[in-house]
Amino acid sequence: MLNIVITGAPGSGKGTQSELIEKEYNLFHISTGDMLRAEIKAGSEIGKKAESIIAEGKLVPDEVMIAMLRKQVLDHKDACGFIFDGFPRTVVQAEELDEMLAELNAKVDVLLCMEVAHETLVERLLNRGKTSGRADDNLETIEKRLAVYTENTLPVIEFYKKSGRFSKADNNSTVENCFDQIKNIINAHI
Ligand code: ATP
Ligand code: MG
Repeated sequence: MLNIVITGAPGSGKGTQSELIEKEYNLFHISTGDMLRAEIKAGSEIGKKAESIIAEGKLVPDEVMIAMLRKQVLDHKDACGFIFDGFPRTVVQAEELDEMLAELNAKVDVLLCMEVAHETLVERLLNRGKTSGRADDNLETIEKRLAVYTENTLPVIEFYKKSGRFSKADNNSTVENCFDQIKNIINAHI
């Protein structure tokens, strides 16, 4: 199994790169943001709880996310590996992910951190907001999401650094340029 976590601030291009990685390495892509938006669309209990939290740019509670992730991993445990996009966003989630994968005799092989300048992130998200229809792609919520990222998710990066699993990719230029860097990183792990 090859398991990759992709992280980075909101708008750093995690979804776009995940789709490329998924195809190139035949991994199963788990995007917690996409899963939550599907729950909202379906009008489920989780969706009802998550809707206002997401619109405010806050994090959905760990226990909800961990249960959701666990089910998705166990439902696809025959996959060649996973690309985790949008999870873990807190240290508690990161610890749980390690435990979950240990039960499958697997681990997170590498954390890929997407680096993009603050102004570029805001610009890209505002641009996306024109067509995404996402309730959280507006200036006020974008700033809140960036602050939540700094507070809750930067410690996750430290968690992976401590265990020697951290790598970064510069995504200030093109999609292709970033993907080339990512392939070099992943190829060093397989
Ligand atoms: P982008 O996808 O452009 O990088 P993003 O990372 O902010 O932006 P998503 O990953 O789609 O967007 O997540 C959208 C929202 O869903 C988050 O702001 C948060 O409210 C909720 N969410 C998604 N994943 C988690 C998680 N692991 N823990 C808690 N909340 C989550
Ligand atoms: Mg995304």
